[in-house]
Amino acid sequence: MEFGRYLIPYSNNQKFIKNCDPDKAAIIFKGTLKPDSMGYLTYNDQQVKQKYSYVYWLQNKHGKILGNPVCLKLRDPKVWMSQQSIEKTMDSLVAKYPKWAQKTTFGKTVNNLPINGLVVGNLKNALLLVGYTHAGESGAELHLATIAQLLKNNKKYFRKAGIIVIPVLNIDSRNLLINGQPDYVRTNANGVDLNRNFPANWEKPDNSYGIKTDDPNSTTYRGPFPASEPETQTLMSVMETYKPTVFFDYHWMGTITGCNLLSYLDDTVMKLELELYGKLFHDGFFSDQKIKPPFRIENSTKSGTTQRYAITVAKIPAFSVEGVKEVPVQERSHSDMASAEDQLEYKQKHYQAILSVLKYLYKNNTYTR
Ligand SMILES: [Zn+2]
Repeated sequence: MEFGRYLIPYSNNQKFIKNCDPDKAAIIFKGTLKPDSMGYLTYNDQQVKQKYSYVYWLQNKHGKILGNPVCLKLRDPKVWMSQQSIEKTMDSLVAKYPKWAQKTTFGKTVNNLPINGLVVGNLKNALLLVGYTHAGESGAELHLATIAQLLKNNKKYFRKAGIIVIPVLNIDSRNLLINGQPDYVRTNANGVDLNRNFPANWEKPDNSYGIKTDDPNSTTYRGPFPASEPETQTLMSVMETYKPTVFFDYHWMGTITGCNLLSYLDDTVMKLELELYGKLFHDGFFSDQKIKPPFRIENSTKSGTTQRYAITVAKIPAFSVEGVKEVPVQERSHSDMASAEDQLEYKQKHYQAILSVLKYLYKNNTYTR
């Protein structure tokens, strides 16, 4: 029996496996593989590098390929925190700052995993942070680092302002990536794009990116009916329960996002509030840069998104936090090739962005919501 390996230094190519030729694979093992206690043939490949994807073929001694190849990507656990380490980080923050932070179960995923998060400080005047609405994107790493730093250096703001964080909304699908699934994953375990599932103009299907939201096979499938998904219902109930003052939903890809703010600007009533909070976030984000890019919010009118629901139904100013490919770190992250150093730099930027909004909430605490 022979075992072949093929190395792909890039992972966001959905159908990359079609372009892999088993004849070009390096043979990394010759001999007999013994089944383990579960009956699986196991090979432990020690020669792999982080951030790379690998395709493995098995062939018999006559050169016949057996079964389908196995594809795996090795992600750096320092870049992609596992769910276990996210939970542990939240537990340790609560243990360290019991007066300020509590862990809460907000709901359950399709696969019945608890959707946990933190509530920190004064919840009458809180900003809501949501991560990984789309499994392969961003959230937990940036959010938890920010909260840890705020609790360490800026506790005073939490007397009059707060943060509610759901570090990972789409836990089921993100776990696939943690366990080696090479390609970008967007939808939840039912194949529904959570960011098209909210009851906000849901009835009107959308064709952006040339993908139809009413097609169950598309990656932007809106679901069988509005709010059909438990993750959607969870986020709706968080908005209803806490009535956050402002909401940032983290996107882009590969654990990092930039400061490209998208919102639903057709709501003219909320436009001023959106400009206010967007500018605060922007100014904080770029506070370490001498030359700051101009401030703008991109209008997104897509149906069923978190921010459109927040703005038009829950009456909460809301943004999708995206990146741009023109910035090298964000470009790398978009290909899921960001390093731990890249992420560290962006933890600092998001800390500054969120601190800037938090300071404003602290100063302008009116408890009107
Ligand atoms: Zn997204």
